[in-house]
Amino acid sequence: MDGMNWTPAPANDTEPSPGRAAPARWPEASELVYDDAVKARVDHLYERVKDVITPMEWPAYAPLIDAINRLKKERGATILAHNYMTPEIFNCVGDITGDSLRLAQVAAEAEEDVIVQAGVHFMAETAKILSPHKTVLIPDLRAGCSLASSITGEDVRRIKAAYPDYPIVTYVNTSAEVKAYSDICCTSSNAVQVVEAIAREWDVDTVIMIPDEYLAKNVAAQTDVRILTWKGACEVHEQFTAEDIKQLREAHPDAVILTHPECPPDVMAEADFAGSTGAMAAYVKEKHPAKAILITECSMSDNVSVENPQTAFVKPCNLCPHMKRITLQGIYEALRDMKHEVDVDPEIAEKARASLQAMLDLPKPDKPAHFDTHRDIIDVPYVAV
Ligand code: SF4
Repeated sequence: MDGMNWTPAPANDTEPSPGRAAPARWPEASELVYDDAVKARVDHLYERVKDVITPMEWPAYAPLIDAINRLKKERGATILAHNYMTPEIFNCVGDITGDSLRLAQVAAEAEEDVIVQAGVHFMAETAKILSPHKTVLIPDLRAGCSLASSITGEDVRRIKAAYPDYPIVTYVNTSAEVKAYSDICCTSSNAVQVVEAIAREWDVDTVIMIPDEYLAKNVAAQTDVRILTWKGACEVHEQFTAEDIKQLREAHPDAVILTHPECPPDVMAEADFAGSTGAMAAYVKEKHPAKAILITECSMSDNVSVENPQTAFVKPCNLCPHMKRITLQGIYEALRDMKHEVDVDPEIAEKARASLQAMLDLPKPDKPAHFDTHRDIIDVPYVAV
């Protein structure tokens, strides 16, 4: 173990996944030290995150970053890091970064056989659905999502029985089972396009869009298709209020305000721009605003600011408690012990893949679509089941 100051670790109490070789012995996270060898291997990465990680914090992160990057090679693993990961994960150990669907799509093409999902459980399931022969690990099995847990496969079956004539469009922030019983998936980048395409294909004027009621309402404002929805919400984005945005605008009149379509419609109406995480990042990269405020999860601003040092970010912060369960230590231990494997029942996976594929088969826009924030707010009823 060149450069690592450690003594043999006690046997890890987690069994390796069946059929896999027992992992080599790596130390406990607390035994990793920031010595000269670690400095030589990873200190160049600090340059990238120096504006969002203090010099005091770096010695705590560097040994884990070093160990993870070396373990990745040993295990033949690739790490998918969602935009809401903390900057030391996103910038220093993530191999593929972006929104959940991009992560799963790119991972399917990667040559590595092991995927570590630095994100929440539904994302790991999506990675498994698109890469059924790979081993998918999640550093913390408790990393859930308020949207994904708002609806079950059984709920979707009941909706289908009650509304057999209307297609069900399901946001990717859902479990594999929910995707499996749906007709097509969507992301916050392509939701309007998917709703309009499936309405045309089914020759109907109404589409059921689940489970995010705010995304559904925001989509309804952009299209003539009638939408019915489900009472689910992202616990991070639903906390923002129109009053918050007005106060931010008053305090920072020179800032451009960008919001995510999981926010309530009256929040969207106060913003200058609305779009998915990908659309927000693309806006900042393209327009180089002097000052920006991203109305979304806390870490997004940190990660976008690393790529865009010309823009000053005001950070009104709402943390996702599920995303924040993923830590460097958790990633290290998942890789070290090959633990917390995520599996999806093959029959469910096949059906869920069909819903994802129906979306992927639609023509791809050149860049993520954004929402017009000046549209009237539309009242969208819930499905009656
Ligand atoms: S930010 Fe919202 S949608 Fe994303 S994982 Fe957290 S709760 Fe779910």
